[in-house]
Amino acid sequence: MRAKVIAELEKGKFTGKNLAAALLLRGQPQGELFGLARRARSLAFPSGTVEVRSVIEVSNICRQRCRFCNINRLPNAEKYLLDRGRLLRIAAHLYRKNRRVLLLQSGENNSKAYIELVSKCVADVKKTFSGLTVILSMGSLGFAQYRQLRRAGADRYILKFETSNPAFYKKIKPDDSLRKRLRCIGFLTKLGFEVGSGNIIGLPGQTVNDIVNDLRLVGRLGLTMGSSSVFVPGEGSVYFNRPMGDLDLTLNYMALMRMLYPRLLIPTTSALEKAGKNGQFRGLMAGANTVTVHDGTPPGIKRHFPIYSLDRFTPDEKHIRAIVARAKLSL
Ligand code: SF4
Repeated sequence: MRAKVIAELEKGKFTGKNLAAALLLRGQPQGELFGLARRARSLAFPSGTVEVRSVIEVSNICRQRCRFCNINRLPNAEKYLLDRGRLLRIAAHLYRKNRRVLLLQSGENNSKAYIELVSKCVADVKKTFSGLTVILSMGSLGFAQYRQLRRAGADRYILKFETSNPAFYKKIKPDDSLRKRLRCIGFLTKLGFEVGSGNIIGLPGQTVNDIVNDLRLVGRLGLTMGSSSVFVPGEGSVYFNRPMGDLDLTLNYMALMRMLYPRLLIPTTSALEKAGKNGQFRGLMAGANTVTVHDGTPPGIKRHFPIYSLDRFTPDEKHIRAIVARAKLSL
């Protein structure tokens, strides 16, 4: 017999109570939840294709000191910044490998020189390679800076809201505020970016109610891309000694996000694999339709971008092909 909450969700009854109950499902009812999410995905994306993004970690220079992150907190960590020539060579290499979506990621650096560098790189890449989508993820910036990046040709921007709870946001990102973050998301939308955002699940002090509210917030932001990261206690971060986020809770959140907002591009992140065996494959089974491949950052530099862990899982092409085939999807 179907669990009551599954029957309710199937009828479109996404009440707070049902969402909270669904987040905690395990075993067979969880499998049924994933089945509903896959059904929503195949109605919204009948082709069954998965978007592949190559990530280039452009720089680890960051002005924030988020408590869950170890960037800026590891002693003797080297700061780096890829230059324009190197970035273009990496893009050319990825393009030859048939990548058509590049994600340029970095810490939050609002210096004029940095924004100019990235703008020039984006313009170079867009001019040189046809049919390439460029996604940026560089944190909270000013309206004029986003406009400069947009005018350079950037197509999309990912700016996570992290949590929908303002007090909790202040706790995990002491030098920032949720209000400012949401204002930046508004800037991006106004400038015509396709915008992505999302939360982190499993941060110390987060409640199920916070997570339900995160799901609601996603619906108010008019996003193209929605994501959820599982919290991984990175070495050197304030939360290093805290437990890893719950993989199943994160997967259930992804499934509910798919059901509530079927058209979203939802990534199955590499952190899921770190949180549990087959995590990334299970992300596809929970309704994700995007995978990121960490083949854009030069190998010698990867260790200087330790977001979430020095020992992070960076999926390669073989792994991606295997999980996509196993999920009966295509690239
Ligand atoms: S999470 Fe992002 S913004 Fe925060 S410290 Fe790490 S790199 Fe910087």
